[in-house]
Amino acid sequence: MNPIQKLEKEHVKKIKMIVFDVDGVLVPRGTRIKQVGNTTILETKTIEKKQIEQIKELNKKNFLINISSGRGLYMLQEMFREVLPFVSLTYENGSATWHKGKIYQHVNSFGYMKDIFPKLRRVRSSNIKGFEPKEFIITIHCTKRVKEIEKIIRGERKLYTVWNGEAYDVGIKKYQTKAVGLRQIMKIFKLEKKNIMAIGDNHNDYELLREAGIAISADKSRLKGKFYVPLNGKFLPADTLMQKILSLI
Ligand SMILES: [Mg+2]
Repeated sequence: MNPIQKLEKEHVKKIKMIVFDVDGVLVPRGTRIKQVGNTTILETKTIEKKQIEQIKELNKKNFLINISSGRGLYMLQEMFREVLPFVSLTYENGSATWHKGKIYQHVNSFGYMKDIFPKLRRVRSSNIKGFEPKEFIITIHCTKRVKEIEKIIRGERKLYTVWNGEAYDVGIKKYQTKAVGLRQIMKIFKLEKKNIMAIGDNHNDYELLREAGIAISADKSRLKGKFYVPLNGKFLPADTLMQKILSLI
């Protein structure tokens, strides 16, 4: 892996779309959630003015911008309200994509999730903070790992769970990853692998980065890429990357 300073104009020549992970990349890591009975309190983070300007600038230079997150659409729309005309939103780990008000559903997980959800809801642990509202995947925020959750998912042959340090995402093996979402948007925008640059910081970005022509790791302890940016540098990883690209083009 090379530090991002080594990125040159030559590398970016064929890139038409840049795919950004959200948490840890465009906004700091961490989700504040609290659930008591049927009441859920969930904090919305918004992106900084500077990132809004950078995204607009990249768009002016003819880059397509795709935001790919494990979060739900309602939340991403809130976070990216000011740049919605310039981006597509791929949400819930590749399950669907929003673009200019149109929704493309990539995965139908209903049959896989309907029986598992009540089982997970019954798990009692003081480490569970709450279930983040989602349509296609299940996300359970916890203060630390919960053995019972992992045991339930291990018993489900077709499902995976990823612990990212603050939550479990539960999805369908191979069919519900950010890479599946990326392959679908590549079809929608008629792009090839060599046209894609992607940046991510966590385990749910593993398949996404493998699917990109140029992969950028925002946490080299968790992910490999052609280049890396520091996770806890002076700027957010997406900021560092966008500064670099804008300085080349
Ligand atoms: Mg992330």
